Amino acid sequence: MIDFKVNGLVIREAETGEYDKLLTILTEKYGKLFVVGKGVKSVRSRHIASTQLFSYASFNLRKKGNYYYITDSDLIENYYDIRNDILKMSLGSFICDVACEVAREGVEEGALLKLTLNTLYAIAKEIRPLEIIRASFELRIASDSGFMPDLTACRCCGNANPQMSCLDIMDGTIICDDCRKNEISATVKDAFYELGIPRPISLISLPVLASMRYIISSKSERFLAFSLDKIEHQMFFDACEKFLLNQLERGFFSLDFYKSLL
Ligand SMILES: [Zn+2]
Repeated sequence: MIDFKVNGLVIREAETGEYDKLLTILTEKYGKLFVVGKGVKSVRSRHIASTQLFSYASFNLRKKGNYYYITDSDLIENYYDIRNDILKMSLGSFICDVACEVAREGVEEGALLKLTLNTLYAIAKEIRPLEIIRASFELRIASDSGFMPDLTACRCCGNANPQMSCLDIMDGTIICDDCRKNEISATVKDAFYELGIPRPISLISLPVLASMRYIISSKSERFLAFSLDKIEHQMFFDACEKFLLNQLERGFFSLDFYKSLL
């Protein structure tokens, strides 16, 4: 038996038995851990507040076999403003689902934990519109998880600041609109067709491209500190969502539910 103390964010909860829960917690040092909370569903449990989705807490854990058991816990933050609002709660669930999908086990995940906590705080306090927060998180977490797009310049002609371009959502490169329209260029045909099938793309304007460049290169705590005119928003939202879902090769029920509320 090994006892240790760790700060962790509950990113998934499942009920097992009448009073127990199986939690997935995201930690700085050990990535994601699967933790059993014995009796934590009981209203008399002193761990009830620490063992809910979105709870960030200090946990004392005991390892027995392949499982970790909670022996003590202290709540640090419960994101009350998220729990109290159905739209924020559904977006927060999606954020936790994505973090759970990309988090590794048994390795350091400090950057992912920080990004997830910062994003939940931004949602709770609504420091930017929720859709801006979602799209920025989608792009940043994809980028941090090994899928950083190459937004430097058009991959065909090298133009670094095209007024309009396409993000190739499969490989994360950009192609300017001039190259896209130049149908006589064999290079561009190769760029857009693979075995005769068009590759999925997302149209982005120069301001959207600039915002995307900012998000993937800024410090984690500043990743939302950019401005983008409202007229550009839909283009930005589409590109970020498509890019993440394509890289992870899956959809999320929590995302569909959140979008059904908009
Ligand atoms: Zn070009």
